Amino acid sequence: MNVENYKYQGTQKLVYTNNSPDELTRVYYHLYFNAFQPGSEMDIRLQNINDPDGRMFVEGKSRIAALTPSEIGYLHPTSFTQDGEKVKYNEEGTVLVVTLAKPIPAGGKTTFKMSFEGQVPVQIRRSGRNNKEGVALSMSQWYPKLAEYDFEGWHADPYIAGEFHGVWGDFDVKLTIDKDYIVGGTGYLQNPQEIGHGYEAAGTKVKKTKGKTLTWHFKAPMVHDFMWAADPDYLHDTLKMENGPTLHFLYKNDPEIIGNWKKLQPKTAEAMEFFSKNIGKYPYEQYSVVQGGDGGMEYAMSTLITGGRDLNSLVGVMSHELAHSWFQHILATNEAKHEWMDEGFTSFISNLCMNKIMGRNKDNPFEKAYKGYRNLALSGMEQPQTTHADRYWHNFAYGTSAYSKGSIFLSQLGYIIGQDKLMETIRKYFDDFKFKHPTPNDIKRTAEKVSGMELDWYLTDWTQTTNTIDYGIKEVYADGNKTKIGIERIGLMPMPLDILVVYADGTRETFYTPLRMMRGEKKNPYGAIKRTTLPDWPWAYRTFEFSVNRPLSDIRAVVIDPSLLMADVDLENNVWQPLD
Ligand SMILES: [Zn+2]
Repeated sequence: MNVENYKYQGTQKLVYTNNSPDELTRVYYHLYFNAFQPGSEMDIRLQNINDPDGRMFVEGKSRIAALTPSEIGYLHPTSFTQDGEKVKYNEEGTVLVVTLAKPIPAGGKTTFKMSFEGQVPVQIRRSGRNNKEGVALSMSQWYPKLAEYDFEGWHADPYIAGEFHGVWGDFDVKLTIDKDYIVGGTGYLQNPQEIGHGYEAAGTKVKKTKGKTLTWHFKAPMVHDFMWAADPDYLHDTLKMENGPTLHFLYKNDPEIIGNWKKLQPKTAEAMEFFSKNIGKYPYEQYSVVQGGDGGMEYAMSTLITGGRDLNSLVGVMSHELAHSWFQHILATNEAKHEWMDEGFTSFISNLCMNKIMGRNKDNPFEKAYKGYRNLALSGMEQPQTTHADRYWHNFAYGTSAYSKGSIFLSQLGYIIGQDKLMETIRKYFDDFKFKHPTPNDIKRTAEKVSGMELDWYLTDWTQTTNTIDYGIKEVYADGNKTKIGIERIGLMPMPLDILVVYADGTRETFYTPLRMMRGEKKNPYGAIKRTTLPDWPWAYRTFEFSVNRPLSDIRAVVIDPSLLMADVDLENNVWQPLD
């Protein structure tokens, strides 16, 4: 890496095993830095989307369109061989198409060798040089990265805006850079006693090396990405967790942020414990929180986050990016296709974590997600969650669908099957599908196995359509000494209902209408309150009536879903109170 002109050269050796049942005649690599050039697909998309990202689009103009030749990014292979034989390759924007010299049979192995040269772009999105907080190098998506081939075929998506999908491998990376630069990111440093910069064993001396550069040697087993960041002014703290990984913190020596970055450190350990307990054990030996990038972005064993934040925001972004370790790096759902399974599940668990470690103790820590989702559902801009991450009309619709509606997939699943079964589902899902790239059917099947319910209707309506949930209280009327309560289904999407009735003497009772097609019932979620389970509601019926053994004058309120975990788009008709 040349830190003066931001150019770099590299060589890459990749031993590829074809675990598929198919013979492969081509392979593809991602050349992400080519996106940061005027006229690239990323540039043109930026100029055409209805609500462009404010980091990339300033005063009505694409920042990519304005890049000069010394400011653009690029990544070009300069030679390529397969088992020593030259092969034909062709760059198509951000994708390298390689026609193999000889096919790789099912179960076969081959070795690719490549030389490449690159230029680090002025920071526009995620990676780049000299970010707005003055971090010199945020190096993500910087090397030729093999595309994923799986049961659906190739996933050589162009880099337009969306996120990443990759192939697991054991990485061995040597990085030569000016010796004043401190590096943090993915992997375990193999030569800490030559490097120093806070990586050396505590209290030991570091060997002085001659020359202007240091070569950092990292190993990273079973990762599908390798990020590093470097700056000559980083401070570097470490925290070794008991029965857990070593945490690294690299941040600018800026008196304005140091206090918060110190307070962040024990919170990161608490979050690591929370996720390991509630999802599954973190399988790596280190995690690095590194100041850099343009907001917050997850990488293998690490994250790049901007550092000038108040403590709540700093802990919040750490918690979110750290939670991605489980969903994006260990489970590693294809985020271009199933963005809600990564961003949504990450948001769900990091909200639960923040509620705990920041002492918020909210009854419903997902309130904001529900508000955001309702806003989207009623905006007319919603597209189904099956939409490819790059193919939304609005960034707003992508964001709300992936993060808010995605997180509600789980919180609402808890409403359907019960909170204990939800948490059991998450742990089993992680355990069964880690390092396997799960798809939507896998989370559904796991929830079905744990709960004993049939949940196909839930996966289908919530993720493959924009159908909405709207139930309402139609009427409450006297029937002799009893009271009749009539509920109606206004929206298309089915749901089981919890209905709370509050009496004049202050006592409460709940009524539960299971959905017939889910073929099961959850446990009473309001343990202390008496629950009556009513007959199943067959979805096609528009109304459902039941009777309460109290006179109408005794009824103070009727409430559909007092937990607010069901994403009903119209809450007005969910509450009935007598007119005084
Ligand atoms: Zn995220």
